Amino acid sequence: MDHQIERYDDHTVIIRQGLHTNFEAPFLYLLLGSERALLLDTGTGHVPLRPLVESLLDGRELVVAHTHAHGDHVGGDGEFAAVVGHSAAEVAASFGIADWPHGIGQLDLGDRILDVIPIPGHQGADIAVYDRSTRLLLTGDSLYPGRLYVKDWDAFRASVSRLAAFVADGNPVEWVLGAHIELTTRPGEDYEMGATEHPDEHELRLAPAVLTELASVLGPEPARIVRDHFIVQPL
Ligand SMILES: [Zn+2]
Ligand SMILES: [Zn+2]
Repeated sequence: MDHQIERYDDHTVIIRQGLHTNFEAPFLYLLLGSERALLLDTGTGHVPLRPLVESLLDGRELVVAHTHAHGDHVGGDGEFAAVVGHSAAEVAASFGIADWPHGIGQLDLGDRILDVIPIPGHQGADIAVYDRSTRLLLTGDSLYPGRLYVKDWDAFRASVSRLAAFVADGNPVEWVLGAHIELTTRPGEDYEMGATEHPDEHELRLAPAVLTELASVLGPEPARIVRDHFIVQPL
């Protein structure tokens, strides 16, 4: 099996690219609305993805977008006829985000509205996706149980603060779901970079309090920060 599939509910599919296909083993999300579906990320491109996605669409129109533009999230783009562009400007235009990164965009899948929140800092065109129907918050490489690599500290700190404020401002979160797992079940213990086996792996989901925790521990100066459920790693 090149991908592991978990149905979070009837309209929400969590796809993980197998660890044996690439050590990044990214998580991809397929959110199904009444008219359209969003595929968030296309993986590393080492294994075919489109046949699996098409088998789940049930006639819906497909929108392909990305949590950010790193190669392990856009690697499968070539399989799809159309994808949202990789630059912040293209992402902003696609989701109607004015004043990147301060504005918030929307995508209506048909009876399912997603909020698209710019969170640059890890890469530059990073977004979080909030699904109003399931109250899932998809955070890409900006928050997951693993090493949060920060390229632009000031931007990342501001993004995490805005995201925490968005949640506090009437958008409650059931679970925060990121794009990788690099921690074990033991607090703050990560696998070696490039490990192709993950014994005793941390679960994917993070409680919303972990976002609040991340916002609270980011100081003004770049610093490596090890917590139970994430490691902040400045670049
Ligand atoms: Zn990344
Ligand atoms: Zn990644």
